[in-house]
Amino acid sequence: MKKDPAILLIGSKACTGCLGCVDACPVNALSVVLDEEGFYRPIVGDSCTKCGVCADHCPVLIPKKTRDCRSQYPLFWGGWSFDDEVLQKSSSGGVFYELAHHVIAQDGVVVAARWEGLKVVHDFCMKEEDLPDFMGSKYIPSDTTGIYKKVIVFLNEGKKVLFVGTPCQISAMRSFVDNENLVTVDVICHGVPSLGIFKLYCDFLEKKEGSSVHEVAFRSKKHGWSSFQVSLSFVNGYSRSFFHGWDPFFKGFLKDVYLNEGCYSCPVAMIPRPGDISLGDFWGVPGGLKNEDKGTSVISANSPIGEKILLEVRDEGRLFLKEVPERTAVKSNPYFFMGYRHRPKDRNLLKSLLNSGDFETLIRELKLNTLVSSKIWMVLKKEILSPCKKAVAVAIQFLRRFRS
Ligand SMILES: Cc1cc2nc3c(=O)[nH]c(=O)nc-3n(C[C@H](O)[C@H](O)[C@H](O)COP(=O)(O)OP(=O)(O)OC[C@H]3O[C@@H](n4cnc5c(N)ncnc54)[C@H](O)[C@@H]3O)c2cc1C
Ligand code: SF4
Ligand code: SF4
Repeated sequence: MKKDPAILLIGSKACTGCLGCVDACPVNALSVVLDEEGFYRPIVGDSCTKCGVCADHCPVLIPKKTRDCRSQYPLFWGGWSFDDEVLQKSSSGGVFYELAHHVIAQDGVVVAARWEGLKVVHDFCMKEEDLPDFMGSKYIPSDTTGIYKKVIVFLNEGKKVLFVGTPCQISAMRSFVDNENLVTVDVICHGVPSLGIFKLYCDFLEKKEGSSVHEVAFRSKKHGWSSFQVSLSFVNGYSRSFFHGWDPFFKGFLKDVYLNEGCYSCPVAMIPRPGDISLGDFWGVPGGLKNEDKGTSVISANSPIGEKILLEVRDEGRLFLKEVPERTAVKSNPYFFMGYRHRPKDRNLLKSLLNSGDFETLIRELKLNTLVSSKIWMVLKKEILSPCKKAVAVAIQFLRRFRS
């Protein structure tokens, strides 16, 4: 029986951009474009035979989960790498690096996201010295074309593979192959912002600086994990950092005004999770797990494979892990258990704002802050906010004592 390809069955609005269908097609009938909202989409070519194979790999049609509801999983932990250099380079507690280090030491392969210019691609890594390229969160869509097929080749060669990505990418990966040699790690995913908007943002800054953007770090910890900075360096050697809450691109990301349409009702970013392990920031971390603001990961082991590798890395003395109750782990991380995100009305402006080609219009229309440098933020924090917080805490303490 003839069956429409996945993208025609679900429609572009539900598509996650995981690109699993592209690798699945046995006649290479699907190619990839950046659509008018700035997201990767498969398009169907004339050679499509309507065999329906791609539909079996689409997370919207068949979301993959790791467990049934009777299982003991997930188990929840707070944790971090014991290596300060790893912590400094990682977005959260550096758990990704420690898992990757462990797999490479066993002659395995790590598949994760890395920058390629101002694009992000999924690629593989077999050498410890190449791992830094894969560290850190990149808050734009990653191009996964070809990577699922490559993982199958590695697994057929008997290699162990650690595959790290967003839950939709993990679901797609597991639809191809699911065996003991494949360890999957999903990140707790808020949704992915438009690559088109990110390009507008870079163009805007390049015009301001008179030089091309060379490198972007969305999660610089130069002023600590909780006050992380968006840092950019330019070809002319100049660099600047913005407190994330005041950086207009990041602010728009946090306001959910240019996420991929499919992310607002994500089919997989929830418990039961698709990966053997889930990793995120432990926002709202309890006192004993604060790790001096160097970064704490919230971690869940969702399967025996996930639990085994985490405990192995802990027993090698590389990872601090402390079990926490589920309610503590998910309290400030709604996307641990919830695929639904509120879609703001301003999301309707995305196409026209992209067409305008002007980031300043976007800042105005979406009411995003103008750029405030990290230096001003640090002065504000040190001189005004922190003393105010302390004064309020002292006043509350005094009032409590007074009342009792
Ligand atoms: C788009 C996105 C949204 C996120 N939203 C949340 C959230 O709302 N709450 C939360 O707690 N955590 C969120 N995270 C996860 C968080 O930012 C960290 O990635 C995670 O805690 C792992 O940190 P780490 O210190 O262990 O390792 P890191 O070294 O920081 O992690 C690196 C690995 O993360 C994966 N990754 C990075 N960028 C991408 C990308 N664009 N596409 C696919 N995979 C990628 C890679 O495979 C990469 O190698 C998000 C991550 C991404 C990519
Ligand atoms: S969600 Fe993934 S598999 Fe489904 S149509 Fe979109 S790109 Fe293809
Ligand atoms: S929110 Fe869901 S669909 Fe969007 S990138 Fe994350 S996992 Fe994929």
